[in-house]
Order: sequence, then C-alpha cells, then structure tokens
Amino acid sequence: MYLIFGGRSGEHEVSLMSARNVLEAIDKSRYEVIPVGITREGRWIRSGDPLKALLEGVERGGGIPVALLADPGVRDLVPLASPGDAAPGVSAARPSGDPPAVFFPVLHGTYGEDGTIQGLLEMAGVPYVGCGVLASAVGMDKAVAKALFAQAGLPVVPHRVFLRPRWEREPGLVAAEAEAAFGYPCFVKPANLGSSVGVSKPKSRSELEGALAEAFRFDRKVLVEAAVDAREIEVAVLGNDDPVVSVPGEVVPGREFYDYEDKYVEDRARLLIPAPLEPAQAEEARRLALAAYRCIDGAGMARVDLFLERGSGRFYVNEVNTIPGFTRISMFPKLMEASGIPYPELVDRLIQLAIERWRDRQ
Ligand code: ADP
Ligand code: MG
Ligand code: MG
Repeated sequence: MYLIFGGRSGEHEVSLMSARNVLEAIDKSRYEVIPVGITREGRWIRSGDPLKALLEGVERGGGIPVALLADPGVRDLVPLASPGDAAPGVSAARPSGDPPAVFFPVLHGTYGEDGTIQGLLEMAGVPYVGCGVLASAVGMDKAVAKALFAQAGLPVVPHRVFLRPRWEREPGLVAAEAEAAFGYPCFVKPANLGSSVGVSKPKSRSELEGALAEAFRFDRKVLVEAAVDAREIEVAVLGNDDPVVSVPGEVVPGREFYDYEDKYVEDRARLLIPAPLEPAQAEEARRLALAAYRCIDGAGMARVDLFLERGSGRFYVNEVNTIPGFTRISMFPKLMEASGIPYPELVDRLIQLAIERWRDRQ
C-alpha cells in the first residue's frame, strides 16, 4: 500500500499527523507500506524516510507524480502500455488475479481531498482509498456541495457566493450585499478549504470587509453565511453502496467557534462521543449524514458535519469532509470505534473498500 501524505495545502501538517497514525496502526504482516511524501511545493519524495523528511522540513529527492507511477513497484502492478502500443499510457487488457497495490491518500484540502489526486490515480488504473473524483471535488467546494444538498431537499444554512473579480471591482457593494442579507455576526469562508483556514466571524462592517479580504486570499470563490447558534454534530460514514453510519459525535469548541487554533493549536475543544442527543435527534443526524453522503456519491469514507440549532432544534448539513482528520484521536476514527470498528480494522476496511470499488469499475 502506498501511503501518500503532506501535499500542497494549508493542511499539510494535519496530513503528516494522520499519516503517522496510519503507519503505526496498519497491520504490517498483511500490507507492505510504502510511504510517499509530497512537499509543500508539490514535489514527491519516495526515497529514505519521507515522513521524517517532511516533519523535519528537509526536502530531499523530488520528482513528479508521473515518476511515481513509473516507479518499478507501481509499474509492475499498473499495466501501463507496452512499448509497441498505439496509444501510450492506455492500459492493455488487465491481467486477472490480484488487484494492484492500493493507494491511500491521507491528504487534506487542495490537491488531495479535492479530486485532483483521485483523477491521477483513476488514470493510472489503481485502487485508492476514499471518495472518487466527483465526490471529492464536490465535497471540497462548499458552494457546489450546498447547491446539491439544497436540491436534494437537505437543509443548508442561508448563504451567498461571491467571486473574486466582482469583489475586486466593487468590494463595498459586496460587503453591503452580505450585510443586508445576513447582518452580524455572519460567517465568511473560502469555498475550497478546510481546517477553518480563512474562516471568520465578522461582527461589524469593517470586520466583514477584513474577513472578505482574508477569505479571498485563499480562494476566488467565497461564501458568506448566516451565523447559526448551533451545536456541532459530526457523523462518520464508511462504505461504498451500503455504508455504515456511525453514532453521532459532538464537538464542543474551546473558542468562539471551531477555528484553526481550536482544532490544532489549543487543546480545549472537547469531543463528546456519542453526542448527548435524544434518540430521535441522533436518528435524524444519521439519516441526514447518509443522505448527504449519497448526494455527493460518496465512496470509502467521509465525515458529515451538521449544525444543530439551539432553540429551534433544526439540523443543517454544513459540509462533507471526504478525507477527514485521521489521527487516532480524530473524530472520524473515534466515531467508528464507538460504532464497533477499531482503528486497525478501520484502515483494513478502507483498503478492502478501495479494492471493491476498483473491481466494480473494471
Ligand atoms: P472547514 O471546512 O474549514 O471546517 P466550516 O464550514 O466547517 O469549514 O467552518 C469552520 C467552523 O466555523 C465550523 O466548525 C463552525 O464552528 C464555524 N461555522 C462555520 N459556518 C458557520 C455558520 N454558518 N454558523 C455558525 N458557525 C459556523
Ligand atoms: Mg468544518
Ligand atoms: Mg471542512
């Protein structure tokens, strides 16, 4: 199994932490693990100890993804074209028997969770853990995901989407429109990011203007949303056509909202597993999670994050994270554990699901 981590994303460090835990937990008598690190610049490291190199910030080796796919270990497994083939790169009939080695991208955010590496692996014809190209891309884009959820009848928080060119032309009008729609506080976030990077909760016009500028640093597409006074409920989904849905968990942020500091720097956010919910609420959370997963055509795994509004008791589907934090103490593995699937078995199941999906697509 090729474990791919690091990557060109604001969530590079998070990926390294997840990868270290997967490496520790995987059953090495059953799987040979070949670590593959990607630097922040996008260079791929295969030699030596890539995880150590990235953790220490040492960048050795290099090369490009294509070099990895031409690696003897992969080349033997991926039936690339033989020299005389008319269409180079197009595989000939696949030899029957064992599937090729599985790729496990433990990459969060851009170029990892967004369908790009999934596309590369799809083209190489190899099985890989997690969602396919479409689900990954949709899950990454909060604007597109919400449009699909709404279309499927799932509740989403009222929001508006703004593009950078318009904001650059008329920043005052964009701020005025957002202010008129949602007032204060509201939430401003880049469409394609995670780990709360670039997310803010402005409480005045000047803070809103700053929040828009900050979010547009990360993305050409930005969402402004109504702020919901809500509990944060998360549900883990595991599987392809017939997924397992975990018990719901709850994040109790240690700060004003569940921001980057709260997720990775401070240690005050609490995870309640299972979430203290009425049975009917827990059922509703699980129903919405499965519906959201199906809505984006999820496969392998995802963590579906919901808001449970205080007072009204209404749920909203906030987002689907297709490569959720994967350390032993992360919500996704803990929810699975609470639902009867311990970490080593979870890794094993994900690999089996990858192979199953690959077979289905042959
Ligand atoms: P990310 O993909 O970066 O996690 P989220 O949409 O989950 O982006 O936003 C990060 C956090 O910001 C959430 O976990 C929550 O604490 C807070 N938040 C985001 N949107 C809202 C909202 N509309 N109302 C209330 N809190 C929000
Ligand atoms: Mg989130
Ligand atoms: Mg996210």
